[in-house]
Amino acid sequence: MSVIVRFCGAARTVTGSCHLFQTAAGRLLVDCGLFQGSKTLKALNYRAFPFRPADIDAVLLTHAHIDHSGLLPKLVRDGFDGKIFATQGTIDLCSFMLPDAGSIQESEVATLNRRNAARGRPEVSPIYTQAEAVASLDRFQAVEYRTWVDVLPGVRARYWNAGHLLGSASIEIEFAGEGIGREPLRILASGDIGPDAKLLEPDAEAPTDFDYVFTESTYGAVDRPPITAALRREHLAAEVLAASAARGPLLIPAFAVERTQELLVDLIALMERGKVPTAPIFLDSPLAIRATEVFRQHASSTDPEIDVRQLLSSPHLRFSETVDESKAIARLSGFHVIMAGSGMCEAGRIRHHLKRWLWNGAATVLLVGFQAQGTLGRFLADGAKAVRIQGEEIKVAARIRRIDDYSGHADGPELARWVAARRPIRRGVFLVHGEEFALAGLSQRIVERTVPTAQVFAPLLDDIYELSTLAPTPIDVAQRRRLVPEAVVALDWHNDMSRLILDINDRIEAAADDRARGVIIRRLQRALDADS
Ligand SMILES: [Zn+2]
Repeated sequence: MSVIVRFCGAARTVTGSCHLFQTAAGRLLVDCGLFQGSKTLKALNYRAFPFRPADIDAVLLTHAHIDHSGLLPKLVRDGFDGKIFATQGTIDLCSFMLPDAGSIQESEVATLNRRNAARGRPEVSPIYTQAEAVASLDRFQAVEYRTWVDVLPGVRARYWNAGHLLGSASIEIEFAGEGIGREPLRILASGDIGPDAKLLEPDAEAPTDFDYVFTESTYGAVDRPPITAALRREHLAAEVLAASAARGPLLIPAFAVERTQELLVDLIALMERGKVPTAPIFLDSPLAIRATEVFRQHASSTDPEIDVRQLLSSPHLRFSETVDESKAIARLSGFHVIMAGSGMCEAGRIRHHLKRWLWNGAATVLLVGFQAQGTLGRFLADGAKAVRIQGEEIKVAARIRRIDDYSGHADGPELARWVAARRPIRRGVFLVHGEEFALAGLSQRIVERTVPTAQVFAPLLDDIYELSTLAPTPIDVAQRRRLVPEAVVALDWHNDMSRLILDINDRIEAAADDRARGVIIRRLQRALDADS
């Protein structure tokens, strides 16, 4: 008898979360997330799964975020017909987030196919359609927090509030008779862990005493100053005041679910209390509007002075559902607030607003969450002087600001405390869902103090480990990797290409005159010719 795990995603990256557990009783997935970030990673979404979907017996879903749930419709379409276990909050959010993801994929592929047709390239089909996403919702089955549920013969699971998002969970899994001395083998998959002092979620909870803990590491290298609800509002007020003083719009790339509602609640509270000038707040994201409705119904605040329902019904808040409404916002000038998806500026209406405003020094862009490597948001956060949006080069003159207080993720010390609180951990801690730097940061915080160095593992994509042995045993997988390890962690060539084009434009523009420009162009041409 044995239990084997394969890391099918979120290994040395923060997206595509997916662990495959295999035992005599069957095959079990924890999460089935979409890959985001570099084009190399995103290409994985179009490829076959590294397992047969029909062979999977059940899915345990930690939470609704697309990097954890976003490939479920494809899994179902390709033959999975078991149950997807999730909390009711997760199911309510997935019921519109997955169809939305399907519709985004359909429209992205439609654009791509128009371009491909012009270039004589073959058509591609979407990862899945909106209709396929709707069809996958039938597979969901609700679970209660803190209550055992039988998943497969001899395998049971229990969900614990992870404090990260409405419905989010860490999942405790027991494989009967697979542990030391025929005890159950006990595993905890963290999902994403929320920070302390979150406005709309309690602190993360989970039991103790495991053979293995799989922990996310997103902010493993970050040590944030301690925060309270009041301090967070103060920081936001300072940003809003500075943006209004610049007399331009405040653009907030929105993470549609939860962070957007937290920001809205705080923004409106600040306006109603006279701490910042009042102005219309445009929520320019059909997805965020749907999510806001869910929060208006279900959310409660951990701060007694904040009435979520009342604030989210404020007249300052304007919903723009349609494309025409969205375009109308672009005609405004002066101070106003626009929140539009996506949070990392990878897609969605924020890209139109950025195109309209980035070159303008009166505008402010406020980044409010994690920006994955290779995303437009990350380029802005890293201080790019110009960026490319829809093939067009845009100078960055807007004020680029960042506020990490609204993170949905625990920081390094909070993650380390969360891991420590799970002890005893007998056989190993797997660090997942983090970029290299973050993994190293979390590793440093827990190694020796919490677990011996030899028991901390940072698996690569598609790594397989035998878990029934006294220490986890890697199984040789060189043949079965979908990507060479370097491709997972490196910025891929598409990003290098974007940078190169921007550099060339910069140099040519900075040249003294047309003659000097001609010289640069001829030199580049010679370099190209010499290479061919
Ligand atoms: Zn998440």
